[in-house]
Amino acid sequence: MALKPFLLTMLDQATELCHRLAAHGLVVASDGNASIRTGSGFYITRTRSEFENLTVDDWRWMPVVGAPTTGVSSEWRMHQVIFHQLPQVGAIVHCHPPYATSFAVRGEALDGTLLTETADFGKIAVAAFAAPGSGALAKAVIDDLGATGSACLLQQHGALTIGQTFQEAVQRMERLERLAMVQWLVTAGFPAHQTHE
Ligand SMILES: [Zn+2]
Repeated sequence: MALKPFLLTMLDQATELCHRLAAHGLVVASDGNASIRTGSGFYITRTRSEFENLTVDDWRWMPVVGAPTTGVSSEWRMHQVIFHQLPQVGAIVHCHPPYATSFAVRGEALDGTLLTETADFGKIAVAAFAAPGSGALAKAVIDDLGATGSACLLQQHGALTIGQTFQEAVQRMERLERLAMVQWLVTAGFPAHQTHE
């Protein structure tokens, strides 16, 4: 792929951040996809690509409006609709981190105000269930994110974060998973009526 140097640098950095998500256990196998806006389109990870072994060649460009190019992630609709309807979004990360996904399976929102570093998330709601890869899921996510949201859970599925930059979207995913872990610990994790004698 003959890419201009700045695109190569951008995709190189994004690829390294995908490795970090895998190293931290937020993505296993090919259970995640990510995208970065450039001009009238965006780069998105190819179908069945593994974040752990991702390379610059695993990114595919497709337009914000129009048919997808061959080989893109099966969840391209969700990315395309977000880029189309939310002009401030520069990058999207979607994966199935274990704690966040547990809340998504329970259909229970996360409370960003539990931690100072996630306070700006506010309430992270659960987008209504729709089949992975469907247009209905793309709509549910947009409804959930609204005009100002930065993250949401996908019922029975996983989590999604957006950012102006790829690094911001990745950091939000890392913090969202940490928040979900802490919320679980402070609610389900401690036995009721715990006393120290
Ligand atoms: Zn998914």
